[in-house]
Amino acid sequence: MAKTIQAIRGMNDCLPTESAKWQQVEAVIRQVVASYGYQEIRTPIVESTDLFKRSIGEVTDIVEKEMYTFADRNGDSLTLRPEGTASAVRAGNEHGLIYNQQQRLWYMGPMFRHERPQKGRYRQFHQFGVETYGLESADIDAEVILLSARLWKLFGIEDAVTLQINSLGSNEARQNYKQALVTYLMAHQSQLDEDSLRRLESNPLRVLDSKNPQVQALVKDAPSLFDYLDDDSKAHFDLLCQLLDDAGIRYEINPRLVRGLDYYNRTVFEWVTDSLGAQGTVCAGGRYDGLVEQLGGKASPGVGFALGLERLVLLLDTLQKIDQDMPAADIYVTALGDDTRAFASKVAESLRDTDKQWRVMLHCGGGNLKKQLKRADKAGASVALLIGSEEMANQQVTIKPLRGNGEQSTVACNELAEALFSVL
Ligand code: ATP
Ligand code: MG
Repeated sequence: MAKTIQAIRGMNDCLPTESAKWQQVEAVIRQVVASYGYQEIRTPIVESTDLFKRSIGEVTDIVEKEMYTFADRNGDSLTLRPEGTASAVRAGNEHGLIYNQQQRLWYMGPMFRHERPQKGRYRQFHQFGVETYGLESADIDAEVILLSARLWKLFGIEDAVTLQINSLGSNEARQNYKQALVTYLMAHQSQLDEDSLRRLESNPLRVLDSKNPQVQALVKDAPSLFDYLDDDSKAHFDLLCQLLDDAGIRYEINPRLVRGLDYYNRTVFEWVTDSLGAQGTVCAGGRYDGLVEQLGGKASPGVGFALGLERLVLLLDTLQKIDQDMPAADIYVTALGDDTRAFASKVAESLRDTDKQWRVMLHCGGGNLKKQLKRADKAGASVALLIGSEEMANQQVTIKPLRGNGEQSTVACNELAEALFSVL
């Protein structure tokens, strides 16, 4: 036998039982973004490597060690997108969507990072995200947070996630803070790991999001960025807090929250849960007012977030907030005897015309009643329609309920739809 080929480590198949859950989640997301007037943007999965280096930052986990980068046949360096914001800004600049305009956009799709695969962390994973452009005041920061909060509410998990927010202030404020942070870290150099020592040189703020527990403990007592905020950023943050208060959104101010990407300024936030173990951040985002210009466009403010769909599905699964079994069919149409196939197909087609919500599966391949009913059961159908030569001759169909204890009944074809409405 030939050797089987397996999927790439950290890149998962989504089989029918899983994909049914994903479809439920995606449907809620599409409905929510539409209800806020956001429009979808789809960008390629592959971009120039420079796009991510220039936006996410050279000295970040993603760019330093997680990107899938390869040479195209002509030698260009390309990268499988590790996140969506850089691509959205690139596309927005390229097609004139951003300058002097306001945009509320969303996207959903696969992202790629070479990380150690574990629960909630994969090499191909999926994000849903929103990106807004041209809006400076904190009301839009509040809006994207409200949008995410509405998702939790619709999924019934609002009690399982908490919102952490912080402000990174202006560039100048961060520069001033950097001094204080470096002084502190220099005084505790012996407790820093190799990565952090390197970052202390190249990009000290990155030490704050080290995942090493010893470094995290040290960072707890470091000076707080929050104390270095400029007045405008402080006022911006105050307005955000007030808007969240008014909307009844609970939050914690976490002065250590810096996020793992360089492009953020002012607002940063994360929705975290303790129901998923180590991979507790379900959704993260913030404001990135410098990014559009940094990527060659005319300066324009930006705010957005990205939500990890695998983590959301895991959370919904863990909390039993999602249907586990999504039957393939509601109605299973049998065809008993070879001469009934065309008639059975016609019945199935007419039911699909009658109600677009009905999932109608037609038996293919013949076989006796027992075999066909077994298939109907496997498909999860609520009713089977029995169609034999007698039914065909009389233009009738026998309805056999498969769940519960309803009675079998035979009805004329033109009364079938009505009869099914009362059964399903
Ligand atoms: P983490 O700290 O968990 O590595 P991150 O800060 O790298 O997350 P972001 O770049 O902000 O994550 O991405 C936003 C969201 O995408 C995360 O909050 C998470 O839900 C999800 N996510 C990020 N990386 C992965 C991954 N490798 N596998 C699955 N989901 C991921
Ligand atoms: Mg990460």
